[in-house]
Amino acid sequence: MTAKLISGTETAKAIREELTREVAELKEKHNVVPGLVTILVGEDPASQSYVAAKNKTAHALGIHSEQVTLDPETSEEDLLKLVDKYNKDSKINGILVQLPLPKHINEANVLYAINPDKDVDGFHPVNVGKMVLGEQCFLPCTPHGILELLTRSGVETSGAEVVVIGRSNIVGKPIANLMLQKRDGGNATVTLCHTRTKDMAAHCKRADIIIAAVGVPKMVTADMVKEGAAIIDVGVNRIGKASNGKAILAGDVDFDAVKEVASCITPVPGGVGPMTITMLMKNTVQAAKMAANLI
Ligand code: NAP
Repeated sequence: MTAKLISGTETAKAIREELTREVAELKEKHNVVPGLVTILVGEDPASQSYVAAKNKTAHALGIHSEQVTLDPETSEEDLLKLVDKYNKDSKINGILVQLPLPKHINEANVLYAINPDKDVDGFHPVNVGKMVLGEQCFLPCTPHGILELLTRSGVETSGAEVVVIGRSNIVGKPIANLMLQKRDGGNATVTLCHTRTKDMAAHCKRADIIIAAVGVPKMVTADMVKEGAAIIDVGVNRIGKASNGKAILAGDVDFDAVKEVASCITPVPGGVGPMTITMLMKNTVQAAKMAANLI
């Protein structure tokens, strides 16, 4: 079997087109322009490029976007004051503080200071709690993107055996939780694996869907995959540099071998990655609609 490719690039493009239309309609019918601010502390090149991509995408969709870059020595107090300023700014519906923050700043203090109604990353405990309860909330962007990929690719989740590898707060735990929710796109039987899991291969081998969010290149090999399984590879691992200086990326799944066993699979790059930023935009539009009492 050669697996069907689940293209995050194509799916993200389709969702961005939907969002562009929605943003135009919000402006036309309700005079509402969704607003996003990204706050970056320091000069980490990867963070700079993530923030630039987020602002560029927002702009392309017609979302008002502001980008604040702060000195690496910025104090926690000053950062909290800035968050508070944007909490009160009616032009801004979504506040994104780019992680990681410098070591002298307590990340939790900053993330918890964001108004939950503007927490478009979905990291505030109020949104995490609502997600677990199955209530309306901002879903964290990467798991939200995975749900969209599965749904739009027609992968049946109801009754499926799902194995999630990795239990981080931003990917593993939330996607495991979302897959077991009692609603469309959920209703799965979920196993969550991590470094203490005994016999990971045995868990994977009986899975209808494997979601790998580990950070170990090509860790999921073909012999761990059941014939016909659906594979979502979240991992982004830099495994070298090409002659043009660009990083060579690999996922957590041995793509070339696993695609011969799976029924469908996301590539790296071009799989989950493009969905994450797109879901941030979707959350920002949702926040603007909430602020305008349209949902
Ligand atoms: P993380 O916080 O480092 O968590 C990794 C998880 O994998 C941990 O729960 C860890 O288990 C588990 N793990 C590590 N090695 C393992 C092994 N050998 N066997 C079993 N479990 C193992 O990572 P993350 O933030 O979730 O990110 C995971 C990967 O996804 C990374 O490559 C990251 O770059 C990528 N990512 C991509 C996107 C995107 O938009 N495409 C977004 C976020 C992350 P323990 O808890 O036991 O330590």
